[in-house]
Amino acid sequence: MLNRLWQPVHICNVRRAFALLYKNAAHVVAAQNGSFETYPFSQWVAAGVNGGDTPSVGTVSMRIRMPEIILLIHYDRLPLREVKLTRRNVYLRDKNTCQYCGRTLRDGELNLDHVVPRHLGGGTTWTNIVCSCVTCNLKKGEKTPDHARMGLLKKPVKPRWSPFNRIAFRGEAYASWEHFLSPAGWKVQISNVLS
Ligand SMILES: [Zn+2]
Repeated sequence: MLNRLWQPVHICNVRRAFALLYKNAAHVVAAQNGSFETYPFSQWVAAGVNGGDTPSVGTVSMRIRMPEIILLIHYDRLPLREVKLTRRNVYLRDKNTCQYCGRTLRDGELNLDHVVPRHLGGGTTWTNIVCSCVTCNLKKGEKTPDHARMGLLKKPVKPRWSPFNRIAFRGEAYASWEHFLSPAGWKVQISNVLS
């Protein structure tokens, strides 16, 4: 989903996309002769399905081509969201790499480590939790990195959310989305909107 300024804001399923299109809250965006065109729902339906292998959705009387990109007509904000602090997401942020010894390991061989231990006031936060191998975790014990003489590979940070954040989104992506992720593409699209 793109907002009114053609900025990617969200990823939704096809059912939701059709609901928004049907209500005329969104238009389909599709590549046409090298540029992106917008189609209100009625036009999109009328355009039909070209090619037998085009992903489509069937109704009683027809098939409708599956949209890959929709443009929200009224929404112009960028949503403020957060990447959830979970074991899996910390492993993803740290690329399954122990932040003390630098070894990359499978999930089962890793642990979460409080950089500043809880009993010393360290919180369960993005900036105080790192991925650690079991060995380093045991070695560090209930000490701070300084006290344990174990330096961190890098300072842990809170990941910034975006609809295409590797951590936030692990579904299927379409090639057509690529255009809206590059800064060059953004400039082109935003100038289209403003002109
Ligand atoms: Zn380690």
